[in-house]
Amino acid sequence: MTETEKNIRTETPFLQVEDLYVEYESNKEIIHAVNGMSFTLEKGHTLGLVGETGAGKTTVAKSILRILPDYSATIRSGRILMQGQNLLELSEKEMQKIRGNVISMIFQDPMTALNPVLTVGKQIAETIELHEEVSEKEAEKRAKQMLEMVGIPGERYYEYPHQFSGGMKQRVVIAIALACRPDLILADEPTTALDVTIQMQVLEMMRQLRKELNTSMILITHDFGVVAEMCDEVAVVYAGQIVESGSLQQIFKNSVHPYTHGLFHSIPRLDEDTRRLYTIGGLPPSPVNLPKGCHFSPRCPYADAACRDKPIGMTEVEPGHFCRCCHIHDRKEETGNV
Ligand code: SF4
Repeated sequence: MTETEKNIRTETPFLQVEDLYVEYESNKEIIHAVNGMSFTLEKGHTLGLVGETGAGKTTVAKSILRILPDYSATIRSGRILMQGQNLLELSEKEMQKIRGNVISMIFQDPMTALNPVLTVGKQIAETIELHEEVSEKEAEKRAKQMLEMVGIPGERYYEYPHQFSGGMKQRVVIAIALACRPDLILADEPTTALDVTIQMQVLEMMRQLRKELNTSMILITHDFGVVAEMCDEVAVVYAGQIVESGSLQQIFKNSVHPYTHGLFHSIPRLDEDTRRLYTIGGLPPSPVNLPKGCHFSPRCPYADAACRDKPIGMTEVEPGHFCRCCHIHDRKEETGNV
């Protein structure tokens, strides 16, 4: 490899999602689920996609893995570049080699992610056998090692999902996702279905494994606590768009978008005696009929005619920190942030 080629390689982001638009069709209506989403992810980093249910986070992950339902979903435009290669241009056969091998997904609910009639070990071994030329014996050995890696004794290889607790099942799902040492993990609310005590154990385990394997991760969540524990960068998603993005520090200490502020205000605080938690008034807009201008304008206390007039672009408020709001400067004066 020449020096120039090396430079091109190192400068190319590991993952780059560019201006992605995804729609669903249901009952002859078009649902605008993802509306011009762009972000990058560096090798070994974790990006948190945060937002309310229905904001389009899972649709982005499914678009990366190309597992959206053919009958109802369409990727209208955009590019998904992984190390410079556009995943949207690959054939289904090429994508099959990538799924589970280069990119893996951890789904929210371990109860439905596992096959109830196969032993947990076999489910891990199957992933290895599918992507690598190994004997059945070797796949079994590797599957047992994966179980050990996620804190489950290897001899439990022969047990079925119903013999495991919720937290243990999610560990198995993580072991399946990591079995082929993927470059990218898409973790969709990986701890939401678990009780709080198990959540921390699973998060800690994911963080350790990610570090050991230098895996990149997109973590989809609505929980800022999980983001604080796990992420390097954060993108706040609202109505299919990123409304604010930056490093963990920038979003937690210096956020400027009214929606991000609303989310932070809604978190209960131990040092405040609050009788009623703050809520963001109103409801997210219908994805069938999105507002013409800022998608947050129907709920934003600062909205004016300029906000409703035309689509709002992203502005860089400080290096690496972007916000989709046309009144950033007024907001900066008011909050003192940035
Ligand atoms: Fe609120 Fe206007 Fe900013 Fe949208 S553009 S977040 S409506 S102030």
